[in-house]
This record gives sequence, structure tokens and C-alpha cells, in this order.
Amino acid sequence: MGEKTRLRHVAVAVESIDAALPLWKALGLELRHTEDIPSEGVRTAHLTAGGGEVELLEPLAGDTPVGRFLERQGPGLHHIALEVPDLTTALQRCSAAGLEPLGGEVRDGTEGMRVAFFHPRDTGGVLLELVEPAPKPV
Ligand code: ZN
Repeated sequence: MGEKTRLRHVAVAVESIDAALPLWKALGLELRHTEDIPSEGVRTAHLTAGGGEVELLEPLAGDTPVGRFLERQGPGLHHIALEVPDLTTALQRCSAAGLEPLGGEVRDGTEGMRVAFFHPRDTGGVLLELVEPAPKPV
């Protein structure tokens, strides 16, 4: 109890991060971090917006989750990420509420973070990501 969940980022699927960046920079956001996640077939860019972030997602190939998303519905809102202090505890709480993560598993996110996704059919139509911040390097 007393565990704080906060909005971490809103993710947008794009055909090209390079092509999308000028719009977000014009809106006043700053590019903080870019990283490829080969296991998910995606390139990511994180832009700061006040206390939260916008995450841009560009597929590394057509036959990837984000590639199929773009083919199905075009660029646009992809998921919402909530940060939790302890992913294991959060997943236990979700499981008790009948909510199981996509693929039943924890995945590797950007910056060494552990993440899990919930399918939109289980969440009222929104792909949800839970993010546990990586421990600070000592
Ligand atoms: Zn995300």
C-alpha cells in the first residue's frame, strides 16, 4: 500500500522518428533519449514534456508489433505507460484483479527498465504499459 503510480509517457507510432521530430520540437519538447529495442523490433525516442514524456516509436521492420500497427491503422496514439515502483507487486495486484500481461511476461524496455504490457481488449481499448524504473547505478 502507499505505492505511487504515475503517468510516465504517452507513445505515438510514427513511420519515421527523424520526420516526426520537428513537429514535437516545435511544440516545445526536448529530445532526451533514443534507443533501439531489437527484441521488440522498434526504435524509440523519448521527449520531455513537463513531468512526463512523449515516446515516439518507429518500426525497425514491417513484420514487428509497431510495423503491423502502422499497417493496420496508420500513425497515431499507440500506448500509455504508467510507472510503478515495483513491477512484480503491481503485476500481482493486476493478476488478483483478473488482468494478465501480454504474453504473460515481463519484457526489456529502454534504459534497462523492466516493462509489461496489457492488451487493449482487457483495458477498455487502450494498450497499457507498466514500467519499473531501473535501479540507479552505484
Ligand atoms: Zn512505452
